Amino acid sequence: MRDANSNSWEARAEEYSLYGFTDLPSIHQRGTVVVTHGEGPYIFDTRGRKYLDANSGLWNMVAGFDHPGLIQAAQDQYARFPGYHAFFGRMSDQTVMLSEKLVEVSPFESGKVFYTNSGSEANDTMVKILWFLHGAEGKPQKRKILTRWNAYHGVTAVSASMTGKPYNSVFGLPLPGFIHLTCPHYWRFGAEGETEEQFTARLAAELEATIIKEGADTIAGFFAEPVMGAGGVIPPSKGYFQAIAPILKKYDIPLIADEVICGFGRTGNTWGSQTYDFMPDAIISSKNLTAGFFPMGAVILGPELSTRVQNAVEAIEEFPHGFTASGHPVGCAIALKAIDVVMNEGLAENVQRLAPRLEAGLAQIAQNPNIGELRGVGFMWALEAVKDRATKTPFDSALSVSERIANTCTDLGLICRPLGQSIVLCPPFILTEGQMDEMLEKLDAALKKVFAEVA
Ligand code: PMP
Repeated sequence: MRDANSNSWEARAEEYSLYGFTDLPSIHQRGTVVVTHGEGPYIFDTRGRKYLDANSGLWNMVAGFDHPGLIQAAQDQYARFPGYHAFFGRMSDQTVMLSEKLVEVSPFESGKVFYTNSGSEANDTMVKILWFLHGAEGKPQKRKILTRWNAYHGVTAVSASMTGKPYNSVFGLPLPGFIHLTCPHYWRFGAEGETEEQFTARLAAELEATIIKEGADTIAGFFAEPVMGAGGVIPPSKGYFQAIAPILKKYDIPLIADEVICGFGRTGNTWGSQTYDFMPDAIISSKNLTAGFFPMGAVILGPELSTRVQNAVEAIEEFPHGFTASGHPVGCAIALKAIDVVMNEGLAENVQRLAPRLEAGLAQIAQNPNIGELRGVGFMWALEAVKDRATKTPFDSALSVSERIANTCTDLGLICRPLGQSIVLCPPFILTEGQMDEMLEKLDAALKKVFAEVA
């Protein structure tokens, strides 16, 4: 039981919460930031402190924390029809309208949409669609899933198995049949003397060799984020998708773009696959889909998969899958508004207009000799800290350099995220020039302070 002296928000949070993705020793020392509300790109905590959230929450609050149009869309739909499902041949009018809209704004000429509550569930759902499809087409053994090391696809048992992070070993994951290929990060994984083109060719050869070794008839699909997000903001090496897409096509392995972070404007185009110039067979969407105002994910099937999956469902008569809140009318109404806000109210344009300014500001900061690489696109960037730039030697992990930088930023009123030895910035799309300057100044001050301490 809590004693009378520990009645603070922080103590209450620690007593009753099982924290996810949180370094507990650091929380015991620093306390939890208990957030009460937000204004534009800023959040406020119970102590009245104000922070510029350069993470957009978790990459998702792209329209800021108090967008009146999104709040109104939610209120209107709650008043009209506050909840329904999409089972048994019934679904809300908002669900119908959103599916139509998603296919319209997708890169596909035609398509079909399935809804979930999260990005993880959307990836799970896509895997089940592929298993269902291949089974119906007489290839029940076509079940293995290809992804890459450092990929992040979620936390459910299947999507965590797709995620290429060693931390999942604490759960005994990945499940069998989930195969991870080399991460397309040239700066870190390019071999001595290897050009970027050679690196890309090596990864394409690895993919083909893996397909031949495993047998194309055992591989259900290949999933990739256009830019790896939670792996540390890793854009693909030059020509990566152009090199791998034809190989996947040759062996009839669908290419699924996990656009949970990249989708709806983050990379400067509606889809990350447009920025990197490839055509996936299906798209996984979440996060920006509702600008973070409702938990929702979506699988958007392109024309070929739509037809094949529809034929399979017609043959079996039912696709036995769905969540209680799949296609929730309030989520759909918010998503319709969020798409409109991002695409038609200047948010996507703001990313395009300010991305070069952001890159230039970060390039200035990256002149610091303890920054090894600046990488990113649009409004998603990472600065990788190194002990020695020439040899790309990382800092001793015991120094927790990126965590110290992020904590110092927090103390200065800026939220940014440590990922490995990188510091990640993915601000809301509404960011102004003045707010960008504030973000860059605070980050620069934190980097200088921490590097002076650890040098
Ligand atoms: N895919 C990607 C690319 C993601 O970044 C995330 C979340 N960070 C997910 C899937 C999982 O989404 P969720 O947390 O909504 O389950």
